[in-house]
Amino acid sequence: MNFLSEEQMMWKSSIDRWVDKEIGREYIRQCDMDRVFPYEAYKKAATLGLHRLMIPEADGGDGGDIFSYALMCESLSRYGVDFSVAIAGSTYTAMNLALHGTPEQKKNYLPPFMRGEIQFPISMSEPGAGSDVANVQTRAERQGDHYVLNGQKLWCSGAGNDGAVILMLVRTSKEGARKDGLSAFIIPNTTPGLTIRPLKTLARRSVVTTEIFLDNVKIPADQLLGKEGDGWNIIAGEHLQLERIAVAASYAGNAQGAVDDALRYAKDRVQFKQPIFEFQVIRHMLADMQTQTDAARLLVYRAAEMAAKGQHCRKEVSMAKLFASETLQNVSRMGMQIMGGHGTLPESDMERYFREGMQSTIGAGTSQIQRTVIAQEMRG
Ligand SMILES: Cc1cc2nc3c(=O)[nH]c(=O)nc-3n(C[C@H](O)[C@H](O)[C@H](O)COP(=O)(O)OP(=O)(O)OC[C@H]3O[C@@H](n4cnc5c(N)ncnc54)[C@H](O)[C@@H]3O)c2cc1C
Repeated sequence: MNFLSEEQMMWKSSIDRWVDKEIGREYIRQCDMDRVFPYEAYKKAATLGLHRLMIPEADGGDGGDIFSYALMCESLSRYGVDFSVAIAGSTYTAMNLALHGTPEQKKNYLPPFMRGEIQFPISMSEPGAGSDVANVQTRAERQGDHYVLNGQKLWCSGAGNDGAVILMLVRTSKEGARKDGLSAFIIPNTTPGLTIRPLKTLARRSVVTTEIFLDNVKIPADQLLGKEGDGWNIIAGEHLQLERIAVAASYAGNAQGAVDDALRYAKDRVQFKQPIFEFQVIRHMLADMQTQTDAARLLVYRAAEMAAKGQHCRKEVSMAKLFASETLQNVSRMGMQIMGGHGTLPESDMERYFREGMQSTIGAGTSQIQRTVIAQEMRG
């Protein structure tokens, strides 16, 4: 499939080569098994310039476009979505900072991010605010030149890692307001009053998903991103839009990895004196897997292209996220079937793709929420 320019193909294959030569699937597998953030790879990615790709030139970055970023996410995820999220996920918040940050905030956070010294986990969800993100109850009270935060956040991936600076959605209004009463705060994970506990989730194991308890957490007022009440637009709008494009690209990339692994296995594995690829049922499964993966990739490219051109693409982004995530689920499930017992071992990698496929239709808005968004846009 070749809809890319020469330059885009070179960019994509340079990331493919980097993942194979400098990182390797064994390292990605080990980080997942050990539930450890890939610090070494994160630093190497910074040295290569991956963190600076989309940061505007005025802020010291390369000013690259969303399409190139999506291609990067696709290539980073061949051996796992979690790896792509670990390396490229902080860019969603970095872009919020580039757009809304004060000169001081940009100076404090963008250069260390581009050097690979800090990461930016995002904390929206709470026990009572999952799909209904606007129901956030964690509260920030202004007291002089600072805010005091109390409450509980849930499912924050990466909050406990060394160098994590959390972008958190918090309520600053009194009772009554929903979306308008939310604000975004920049909170280093070393701030006193935070208790961060890792959760033993099915996927997102190397980024490490956590729950966070906030007990009188004192934050200087200049850690507010944008103005009070901007939180919904910054996080549920811009941030989630970029996240959905990035994860959709990663699901398509990982689905291709699953097809490649299953195909290789089907050609190598001999039963009844022939490679199992010779059985029509297996061949047809592989044909379906590649067809669905190509369709997912095309939806991702359309959404990324529209976003890069600044076009309204809420529907197309949700379509890409919905279809790519469900494709990763389907493809990895069929891959498990093709690999038989071998597929259930961590060494086969397919069981990791399968676990990440199960997470893919939940994180960044469930499939049901994506369908709701698509239908809202269709209603006009
Ligand atoms: C491993 C992992 C990592 C995560 N990382 C992060 C993170 O880094 N930061 C962060 O903020 N969050 C994170 N999340 C949270 C994730 O975004 C939420 O889990 C997701 O938005 C769904 O919320 P919920 O789990 O509370 O499910 P619920 O909202 O309770 O949904 C339960 C079911 O009801 C359905 N449902 C709910 N409302 C509707 C509706 N209106 N119409 C139709 N169906 C509906 C859902 O689709 C789902 O099937 C993570 C979650 C997981 C599991």
